[in-house]
Amino acid sequence: MQQILETACKSIQDKIGTGQIANYIPALARINPKHFGASILSLDGEVSNYGDSKVLFSIQSISKVFSLTLVLRMIGDELWKRVHHEPSGNAFNSIVQLEMERGIPRNPFINAGALVLSDILLKNKSPEICLSEVLSFIQDVSRDPSIGIDTEVAESEISTAHRNASLANFMKSCQNIEHEVAAVLETYCSLCAVSMNCEQLCRAFLYLAGEGFDPIAKKRIISPEMARRINSIMMLCGHYDASGDFAYRVGLPGKSGVGGGIVVVVPEVGVITVWSPGLNQNGNSLAGTAALEAIAKVSNWNIL
Ligand code: GLN
Repeated sequence: MQQILETACKSIQDKIGTGQIANYIPALARINPKHFGASILSLDGEVSNYGDSKVLFSIQSISKVFSLTLVLRMIGDELWKRVHHEPSGNAFNSIVQLEMERGIPRNPFINAGALVLSDILLKNKSPEICLSEVLSFIQDVSRDPSIGIDTEVAESEISTAHRNASLANFMKSCQNIEHEVAAVLETYCSLCAVSMNCEQLCRAFLYLAGEGFDPIAKKRIISPEMARRINSIMMLCGHYDASGDFAYRVGLPGKSGVGGGIVVVVPEVGVITVWSPGLNQNGNSLAGTAALEAIAKVSNWNIL
């Protein structure tokens, strides 16, 4: 595995530092674009690391997978009355589609969909209590109590969340947001601001490679059926309007975030995480996607 990782990562060195940092979130605009890290964790616990695999970064939209897991555990298929599970073909923060579809987001991995997930997770609690519950789930599946929220990133995002506020307000006008918009935004932005590294993210996603069962903790996190569904939604919607391109190039279910991280699940094999902050025009890590394409090619891991 170490060999696969090194061969693949060395083959894309020219891409590192290219692309655009997510500078619409002020606290992310300062990150050095030259970072590159990658980890692979197999279902039997073997870990391989490369480059900045232990450097913390903002997981951003990768957190939407944790929220979806918890919401499916809470309310199961009831979720699909409030969010669809279709690819959006539009930018992750698009307003146009939401209005045409009367406030029902296309899927849980675009911003509007994840705002609904946050609304469900709040369930008449304060954002603080809700966040501490989600965080303890992330710490639990990562087996790492040190994982936390970067408050500087969270505050920076909350104070500039004008686009997310418009999505949430529009959905509230369609009765698809129950709580106060400010509480939903605080919850959503704080979850995007969780800081993790590549190795921790591999650990945290292992249950999705193990049909909902974490083989290291020997613990069922979610049913096999739900795990399959989460993986399917990652495959079709995990990279916004570039989901088709990602599936074509990598052939595995994955989720990206504008912090430059991408986590990919190889069912019954393990998890791969890459991080490099320069993004392509769709908001996905440019070097990270290239690295995953190379890893999939060298390893021959795919589901197709
Ligand atoms: N926090 C970011 C936002 O709301 C998350 C988007 C992303 O990672 N694609 O814009």
